[in-house]
Amino acid sequence: AKRAGRARWVLFDDSMHERVVRALEVEGDLRRALKEDELFVVYQPVVDLADRCLVGVEALVRWRHPQRGLVPPGEFIAIAEESGLIDALGAFVLETACRQFVQWQQRLGAAGPKQLAVNMSRAQLQRNGLVEDVRAVLQANGMTPAHLQLEVTESLAAQDERVQTTLRELKALGVRLALDDFGTGYSSLACLHQMPVDTVKVDRSFVKHAETVEYHRVLIEATIRVARTMGMTTVAEGIETEGQAELMRTLTCDRGQGYLFARPLEAAELERWAAAQAQH
Ligand code: C2E
Ligand code: CA
Ligand code: CA
Ligand code: CA
Repeated sequence: AKRAGRARWVLFDDSMHERVVRALEVEGDLRRALKEDELFVVYQPVVDLADRCLVGVEALVRWRHPQRGLVPPGEFIAIAEESGLIDALGAFVLETACRQFVQWQQRLGAAGPKQLAVNMSRAQLQRNGLVEDVRAVLQANGMTPAHLQLEVTESLAAQDERVQTTLRELKALGVRLALDDFGTGYSSLACLHQMPVDTVKVDRSFVKHAETVEYHRVLIEATIRVARTMGMTTVAEGIETEGQAELMRTLTCDRGQGYLFARPLEAAELERWAAAQAQH
């Protein structure tokens, strides 16, 4: 039925046809990319807003395509989800990032990141066996569960019963959970206390206009207050200016992440960045 639906669309909509063809191309390419080591992981620092010290990193996947160059995840995560490739992709990111994190603990010590955030997609959370896979990766690398933070989006954490169960199992394992892109989903502030999360990440779109749009600032303030009441840590995403960093700090947001502090960095760059930071 889905195929027939698609085919009908294609007859009427050229751009839809192009999109489907393009998605199939990307899917084939991505299959190869996983085999040929074209994917890699970059790490964006998360800092304490009070003293700008490194607290953690967020792992973000990248694809170095032989012809098309660097492809951003926005262009292939959704396709990976639809085609089932997200399992392999997710496992690659988790394994790579955990191994790297443990290396940093050994090499950088106190100057290194204290927490590693990894993004989880809907398909990963809905699959049986995710909890076992996470446990196995932690064990294989000798990584403390509390050092791993899995990030899920608001709409995902709120809706699905199955996902809720998985999240509770992950928590029982000792892994930390973060609510990503807060403010953009369907659920409201009133639901925040029901979420089994330790951290709330205020979406970049709110941070961006926090200085000029009062509603955004008020929403951020309320989010931080509720989160604090629940004992959750708050992170402001996409901080690009000193003004934004200062405002978020004034609003008592705990942590910040954004181009002002650092872009996502390759592992070697992150190491240099962390070492330089530690000198100050
Ligand atoms: P996200 O989880 O919200 O990640 C933050 C995104 O904001 C990253 O984009 C990061 O590069 C970008 N960013 C950070 N600071 C700034 C800033 O100051 N200004 C601006 N304009 N952007 C900033 P990226 O790496 O392109 O990733 C986009 C999305 O793709 C992520 O959003 C996440 O939802 C998804 N993604 C990335 N890596 C993975 C992964 O390994 N697995 C899964 N499932 N999803 C991933
Ligand atoms: Ca994230
Ligand atoms: Ca986010
Ligand atoms: Ca986002």
